[in-house]
Amino acid sequence: MKVTNLDERIHVLDNEANVMTVVKDIAISGLQEEAFYVLDIGDIVRKHQIWKEKLPRVEPYYAVKCNDNLMVIEVLAALGTSFDCASKNEINKVLSVGVDSSKIIFANPAKPASHIRHAAAVGVDTMTVDNESELHKIKKLFPTAKIVIRIRCDAEVAMCPLGMKFGCDPVHEAPNLLRLAYRLGLNVMGFSFHVGSGCQDPPVYHRAIHHCKILFDMATSFGFKPYLLDLGGGYPGNKGTSIDKIAEVINEALDEYFNTDAVHVIAEPGRFYVASAYTLATNIHSKRSVRADENSPTTVTHNMYYINDGVYGSFNCLLYDHQHVIPIPLKTGCGKVIPSSIWGPTCDGLDQVVENVMLHDMELGDWIIFENMGAYTLPVASPFNGFPIPKIHVVADEDIWLLLKDALPLTEDHFVIGNTPGNLRLGLDIGGNDIDPWNDSDSTMALTTPEILADAPNTPPHFIYDYVEAPLN
Ligand SMILES: *Cc1c(COP(=O)(O)O)cnc(C)c1O
Repeated sequence: MKVTNLDERIHVLDNEANVMTVVKDIAISGLQEEAFYVLDIGDIVRKHQIWKEKLPRVEPYYAVKCNDNLMVIEVLAALGTSFDCASKNEINKVLSVGVDSSKIIFANPAKPASHIRHAAAVGVDTMTVDNESELHKIKKLFPTAKIVIRIRCDAEVAMCPLGMKFGCDPVHEAPNLLRLAYRLGLNVMGFSFHVGSGCQDPPVYHRAIHHCKILFDMATSFGFKPYLLDLGGGYPGNKGTSIDKIAEVINEALDEYFNTDAVHVIAEPGRFYVASAYTLATNIHSKRSVRADENSPTTVTHNMYYINDGVYGSFNCLLYDHQHVIPIPLKTGCGKVIPSSIWGPTCDGLDQVVENVMLHDMELGDWIIFENMGAYTLPVASPFNGFPIPKIHVVADEDIWLLLKDALPLTEDHFVIGNTPGNLRLGLDIGGNDIDPWNDSDSTMALTTPEILADAPNTPPHFIYDYVEAPLN
């Protein structure tokens, strides 16, 4: 297998290594300048275990829009999850790794006509609908589709509410849609909702499932045979969060309203699976120290740090996904802490990552780490102003390798074993370098010959930022 992109191989870590040691090793190699990610496959596997344990009746359909990295899709396919796609391209991406079309739900209630035709052509037949014109469209383009009516039931607190855009009113609109679907001779197979992404209102799932129960009965009285209940997304995924409370509410509501094996219960978790799997390392390339008034000109009152990823890159999540990020300096600091702000690399004033935080004094070349960067970050990032989107180093522990190495679509070829993190060094990324190790089109790079970087460990850190001595008059 030819390696053209770092993202395509999983580096198997030995016992002593973990995400933080990998971050450190790359960062302090002195050969890395650009921001980079470490993606921990084990974190995704552990999330899947938690899901199966807490929500045993609910089959997860991973929401691809949250993070459409091919490796994420392959790992989830290997674990046996199904997928929620919102467009023709997302459907193609999931199909391209060998997932069967029956394991995809087309969960966008407002679909362009060509995307519906494409879904019909490739056999993705389950799709959500929340309005009349969509029913007419499906009648014309894909009359045998399995229709899932999406209702609106909003969490009182959510990072990203969705109800103002999608979902029909369960009491006033849904019955009319059922009537119209019946008149058009369409197949209504179930009901779905999305309480809002980043939900902080667990009881909302009970309300929503109750609405669905009423609609199941109504659909049955029309002559439909509904069997699909889709609980949508909304489950938190950051380190330290838990789905325990939500799972408890869901399991109770399922016991109360859907205590039958005849109903297939699914959900569309996005951030739950990927948020905590990604750790981002950013480098301070510039700094401005704001000093006090002329009476104490040496006193620094505020430090402004400029790092090499910002709101046009990974931190678009601050704007679009309303996330808050916590900067973790890689070096444990000493001395006094100073009010600080952190800024992205572009020339836009909007490009601020952290507004005000107390940090030990840091220098050019120092690294700031951000955890929980896997959800709604990379798919939206742009290289605005010429600043590249960070590359991803994919890692897994040995036990994860043993678990996944033969779980299709993964194969042994997906893994690189031994001598890590020496292997990782081959992808080190100094911006502006003409040699692009990710686009090495014809020479096959041997991953086990590190001689080009043989002196890497001896390179002093931060060589990029050595100052030129200023002459003293
Ligand atoms: C975005 C989305 C999801 C995923 O939501 P999360 O809050 O990330 O779990 C699920 N279903 C649909 C229809 C979506 O649009």
